[in-house]
Amino acid sequence: MRHPDVGLDVRSEYADPNEGRSVYLTFDDGPHSVCTPDVLDVLAEYNAPATFFAIGVYASDRPELIRRIVAEGHEVANHTMSHPDLSGCEPDEVRNEILTASQTIRSVCPHASLRHIRAPYGVWTREVLTTSAMAGLVAVHWSVDPRDWSCPGVDTIVGTVMASVRPGAIVLLHDGCPPGELQRDDPRGPREQTVKALSRLIPAMRDRGFAIRPLPQPH
Ligand SMILES: [Zn+2]
Repeated sequence: MRHPDVGLDVRSEYADPNEGRSVYLTFDDGPHSVCTPDVLDVLAEYNAPATFFAIGVYASDRPELIRRIVAEGHEVANHTMSHPDLSGCEPDEVRNEILTASQTIRSVCPHASLRHIRAPYGVWTREVLTTSAMAGLVAVHWSVDPRDWSCPGVDTIVGTVMASVRPGAIVLLHDGCPPGELQRDDPRGPREQTVKALSRLIPAMRDRGFAIRPLPQPH
């Protein structure tokens, strides 16, 4: 989609020039001390790449997880510093949220090449898009959203994704919770359903002929 005022693109999916039936897995709102390692374990088991849109304050708290994500061949991307609805922020705050998150991720993992950003709640404003472009970040939305954050059940997450996935799809999942929305009482973490769904989704997508690939790199 193209923002009408700014003329900058937000990617919701990627055309598949090779007809390779590519699908892109993305995880938002981590890193989380329980969920992110669980997600990484499943991705490693199936040798599937993903992009993690990390929240800066969590990256600062859990730098070892950012380094593990990158070391295991995945991409770390920008999901702002503290996950506000940027449409309610002043321009200075928008810039600070985006630029500080990039600085934080780079400081804990100098090997991380930051190329993509996803606005919290998918709220893309003119300020968000122009700041992202200035920071060298491509705006990435999604085309498949099983609402795993609402814990609708593993079957529902799997069923929703498999009903709507198509070549070039960007799938939105979550390996954490935004600040202020943490569910602290479950030792298995708030994204247990996502982890279980992921271990079914990867083989199911491959059975349907999809190839799980890293996000295409901007030129
Ligand atoms: Zn988010």
